[in-house]
Amino acid sequence: MPDRVLITGGAGFIGSHLCARFLDEGCEVICIDNLSTGNLANISRFFSDRRFSFVKYNVTQYLHVDGEVDLILHFASPASPTDYLEMPIQTLKVGSLGTHKALGLAKSKKARFLLASTSEIYGDPLVHPQKESYFGNVNPVGLRGVYDEAKRFAEALVMAYHRNHGIHTHIARIFNTYGPFMRMDDGRVLPNFITQALRGEPLTVYGDGTQTRSFCYIDDLVEGLYRLCQSDYAYPVNIGNPEEITIIDLAREIISRTGSRSEIEFRELPAGDPLVRRPDITVATNLLNWIPAVGRQMGLNRTLEYFEQHIDDVTNN
Ligand code: UDP
Repeated sequence: MPDRVLITGGAGFIGSHLCARFLDEGCEVICIDNLSTGNLANISRFFSDRRFSFVKYNVTQYLHVDGEVDLILHFASPASPTDYLEMPIQTLKVGSLGTHKALGLAKSKKARFLLASTSEIYGDPLVHPQKESYFGNVNPVGLRGVYDEAKRFAEALVMAYHRNHGIHTHIARIFNTYGPFMRMDDGRVLPNFITQALRGEPLTVYGDGTQTRSFCYIDDLVEGLYRLCQSDYAYPVNIGNPEEITIIDLAREIISRTGSRSEIEFRELPAGDPLVRRPDITVATNLLNWIPAVGRQMGLNRTLEYFEQHIDDVTNN
């Protein structure tokens, strides 16, 4: 069990859940975030805990932390397509320079390191479901290239630090994740559909809605990450829920779950939008004895409850 954990991007959706988990496990948590997409409201409940500290900082700059650090979780990055298309250069910088700085700190502190990588490594996949051994189908000069290539570079850098400096490193390829503390206006499909349904506005389905995604509830993801950073495995591990659904079926499911009178409105499919996505989680299951425990019905209920409570928060952005 690490004593002192540093989480970059700790004020984001996944980062804030990781802060909660490591505080619950009795660790001291240092959260670093420049709040470009993170939000203090996600972590304000930890401020009274003296084991928690927050530093507003951009991790593409030289990182200095006093004292020992046992584990670094590198989660800083815009992660929704809307965000990284609005911040393409920041996305490339945090994935490359930010990962370099975070690894440099891990090396100097002799800390373990976990990289938040992504299913976007696989691009618009030609292999389905996606196994870690698939090298992917990414267009480096496409719009999504800023995120995909930054994360691919980050994976390469992590492996180089592992091989050359002997650091204990981990690479989690995170698939679509959802749950409380997601930013309502982050442009992703679930926050969009849920807020649209709750407001009685049309649900915006991009393309014909036959593209698929597989959605993992946040608690399952956090459990998988927690187990991964206690393993000795340095190669990439898919963490996600293999339950796959088309986007049009997801829209119908949310309309019926919320009892909304919203209709479905079709919009143009964004360039480079992957047609299918579903993790093969054999590696995670064998290595970590992990499988997702929360089905979509329960996960959506918990998420809806959060969104209903926060839909009127003007500050939730
Ligand atoms: N999508 C949609 N309507 C929306 C937002 C997204 O139909 O209002 C689609 C998007 O085109 C993609 C899928 O939902 O096929 C998931 O998009 P998201 O932005 O959540 O993340 P991605 O999985 O593409 O990284």
